Amino acid sequence: MIIVNGDEAVVFDTPTTATASTELIDWIVHSLNCKIIAILPTHFHSDCLGGIATFHERNISSYAHKRTIEYANENIKNTPKNEFETQLELMVGGKKIIAEFFGEGHTKDNIIGYFPEEKVIFGGCLIKSLNAQKGYLGDANVKDWSSTVRKLKAKYGGARIVIPGHGKVGGIDLLDYTINLFEDN
Ligand SMILES: [Zn+2]
Repeated sequence: MIIVNGDEAVVFDTPTTATASTELIDWIVHSLNCKIIAILPTHFHSDCLGGIATFHERNISSYAHKRTIEYANENIKNTPKNEFETQLELMVGGKKIIAEFFGEGHTKDNIIGYFPEEKVIFGGCLIKSLNAQKGYLGDANVKDWSSTVRKLKAKYGGARIVIPGHGKVGGIDLLDYTINLFEDN
């Protein structure tokens, strides 16, 4: 998810490769005429973090959950620079964005993004698109997954738009779909 406000932008999750990251950064900087003030990978897998080195080369500040930095260290060797544990708030063009950890699910470090101004949740891989399968569970906590999403719904259940890590954008029904998918695990 890219949040653009005024002449500033924030990006949740890097593209997987350096080439795609360069293309994305150039598009935001040159076509949208924005300065990227932060990159926030939502968990340590390469579909969120793979392009982080490119963002660092362009002097873009990176923020991630403490565990994401820890796991990235073990796996990718290029890690976000600023850590948080529960919640992080940043201002983009004078409006607040939130990165928040609600518990384990797709991974032990998965966070979500929230933009209160437009009531948009970026669920990342914690949230499934409608009719999606469970996906890669190698690093998952399927036991906690539903309760983690329930906590997210309890706090930001008034959201209008929910963006999953893969597949189609929807509304709060994506949270319910995900809760049901992992219910009896
Ligand atoms: Zn993942």
